[in-house]
Amino acid sequence: MKTTEVAEEGSRPDRVRELEERNAQLRSDKRKATSEVRALQEEVRSLTREVQRLTVELEKIKHPPLIVGTILDVLVDGRVVIKSSTGPNFVVPAADFVDRGLLKAGTRVSLAQNNLTVVGVLPSSRDPVVAGSEVARRPEVSYADIGGLAGVVDEVRETVEYPLTRAALFEELGIRPPKGVLLQGPPGTGKTMLAKAVANATDATFLRVVASELVQKFIGEGARRVREVFELAREKAPSILFIDEVDALGARRSDDGTSSNREVERTLMQLLAELDGFEPRGDVRIIAATNRADILDPALLRPGRFDRVIDVPLPTHEGVRAILALHTDSVRLGDDVDLDDVVRRTGPISGADVQNLCTEAGMRAVRHGRSVVLHEDFLAAVRKLQGDDLPGAVRGAVGLYA
Ligand code: ATP
Repeated sequence: MKTTEVAEEGSRPDRVRELEERNAQLRSDKRKATSEVRALQEEVRSLTREVQRLTVELEKIKHPPLIVGTILDVLVDGRVVIKSSTGPNFVVPAADFVDRGLLKAGTRVSLAQNNLTVVGVLPSSRDPVVAGSEVARRPEVSYADIGGLAGVVDEVRETVEYPLTRAALFEELGIRPPKGVLLQGPPGTGKTMLAKAVANATDATFLRVVASELVQKFIGEGARRVREVFELAREKAPSILFIDEVDALGARRSDDGTSSNREVERTLMQLLAELDGFEPRGDVRIIAATNRADILDPALLRPGRFDRVIDVPLPTHEGVRAILALHTDSVRLGDDVDLDDVVRRTGPISGADVQNLCTEAGMRAVRHGRSVVLHEDFLAAVRKLQGDDLPGAVRGAVGLYA
């Protein structure tokens, strides 16, 4: 009996320890289980989100594609006449949920595929080319940034800037300013800069479109783009609409009768129509630029259209010097740099070439680990420009200035 009591007493601490260990184990298991539950809850949430996303995607995929149409007329009974992108015109009803106030001639709408019912009004979306055209409110180019074109700048100011800033004076004097101004000259001579500088001086919006991007292979697309570009210019007025490479559109018409040629012609006709319908004293000024005025369709140059042609030639010796001074203004030049010597060695080059020259010289300095541009960098840049970079015609004309 005594022995049993001793044995029982002896086992109690063991039992307590055992229970404590068991307790600790259970606590640890509980912690693990709790964190697993949390992880699983998080996973459930993320899977629910994924299911929602996939459900939306699935809905989109199940939805039949809609046809795009343009409203031509809204009839008194509420039905609309639409021109669909598939071709003919149709008279169709509009679904009840479509806001009747938004149904107007010219609005783009979506149509159900089976019965062409109007099921939605599309936001007025511009063609990506038009929407993506360079639009800048007060571009950061001023007349002071343009070198060697003093006479040209004056002419551009008179024909483009003053009709905007002194419109009342023109009105009083009864003078009709030129409707459109055509800048013609070799590439890189500063035509775009001139247009931007006018926009800057007049606080006007600058819009630049490249004519070759307006021409489309689908019938009527080019004309629509021209219309939209002019619409945008009017919307953003006062504005300067700059049409670059206008020869792509207005090259003299040939009679080869191909459909692509007819489409270019249609686009040109739309441009002419827009120009004709334009108020010369209005607050939208139009500037076009070309490297090839000689191949332009005479219709473009008729009075009331681009009736002022301004030559933007390659800069003279002094012009190149002035442009070089502008482009090296913020460059750290070594004491040995003699810009006159650089100009003497370049021969006739455009403003863009001068810019390239400075970049090349700067790059050479960087390549040699210098933080200052030396005369030898400019000489190396001139050699590179004369050797590899000049277009053939100019390279042929390169001769050292006397
Ligand atoms: P393109 O006919 O190829 O469109 P462009 O005549 O419109 O050329 P710009 O785009 O105006 O030429 O000029 C290109 C760059 O060349 C300008 O960003 C500018 O750095 C430089 N440049 C050209 N002409 C001049 C100039 N007269 N003064 C200062 N920089 C000039």
